[in-house]
Amino acid sequence: MGIVVENVSKQFGSFRAVEQISLEIKTGSLVALLGPSGSGKSTLLRLIAGLEIPDSGRIILTGRDATYQSVQERHIGFVFQHYALFKHLTVRKNIAFGLEIQKMPRARIKARVEQLLELVQLGGLGDRYPSQLSGGQRQRVALARALAVEPKVLLLDEPFGALDAKVRKDLRIWLRRLHDEVHVTTVFVTHDQEEAMEVSDELVVMNHGKVEQIGTPAEIYDNPASPFVMSFIGPVNVLPSSSHIFQGKGFESPHPEVFLRPQDVVIEIQPSDTTVAARVSRLIHLGWEIQAELTLDDGQVVTAHLTRERFDELNLEPQQRVYVKPRDAKAFPLYYSI
Ligand code: ADP
Ligand code: MG
Repeated sequence: MGIVVENVSKQFGSFRAVEQISLEIKTGSLVALLGPSGSGKSTLLRLIAGLEIPDSGRIILTGRDATYQSVQERHIGFVFQHYALFKHLTVRKNIAFGLEIQKMPRARIKARVEQLLELVQLGGLGDRYPSQLSGGQRQRVALARALAVEPKVLLLDEPFGALDAKVRKDLRIWLRRLHDEVHVTTVFVTHDQEEAMEVSDELVVMNHGKVEQIGTPAEIYDNPASPFVMSFIGPVNVLPSSSHIFQGKGFESPHPEVFLRPQDVVIEIQPSDTTVAARVSRLIHLGWEIQAELTLDDGQVVTAHLTRERFDELNLEPQQRVYVKPRDAKAFPLYYSI
């Protein structure tokens, strides 16, 4: 195992930032810690890094108890949201920094830095200063610098959080490819579910300092363990189980609420035994998909997502009468409030 977190808790005053967390991260994998702001992601990452000491529990890195090891002893690479490059040093010097501290021979440093510049696709920019780079390029330098010392574990705390949407998207694809080349055990913190799902092998979904669910992106999407996970991982309609749309579908009490993904709302032009009537109250074009707001006869509003193709096939118009049914919906055995 690359990283084992065993029953770890951390309080700040009386506030429990991380509560009884246990998880295992396989050597060479890329795992995302995903959760809303304040859910304890950075605290957990800092505990793994040795920047915080847990109140209880253990951190085991590559088979050794690291709970009380210093940051240096843990051989960890760290990249934060805000660029921490040395402004007065060139890109090459920034990347070489850790290697110079380790007193690696000059010729080897030079070779390693060139290799890293290629790896992060910044060949040609080695003599620039951080101020002469874009935000995305700076974060790639920060990553090269973290990788230079061949860390056992790479920890990334919202590394693309300060960049604009297009650059973020490019960088997450780039990070995934980079990881496929270097295979260093990586923990990636983000509050963006799409980013987490695109980049990682496994997700750890956190809420209020606790782990809600651990699994592959597909497992978590298809089988969310709680209403929180289901709502956090993608858009969802939360409807009373008494709504017409669930009649005869076995969702009546004891489940007060039923969760229905917008793409699991089936729209038909003709009624059938399994559909209920609705009116198209609004149509929103989202490019490759269409969002339809439907008002059921019981007054409930349901959001549906349909492909452009299906939309054209149905020839939907505002105010049109349609017939709807759930393709798939989920009720949770216990009541949790979100
Ligand atoms: P996230 O990274 O998921 O947004 P954090 O781990 O940064 O969450 O923080 C979790 C909670 O712990 C927050 O409410 C934050 O205010 C609190 N917290 C984090 N670090 C400290 C600290 N050093 N002192 C006091 N409270 C802290
Ligand atoms: Mg954070």
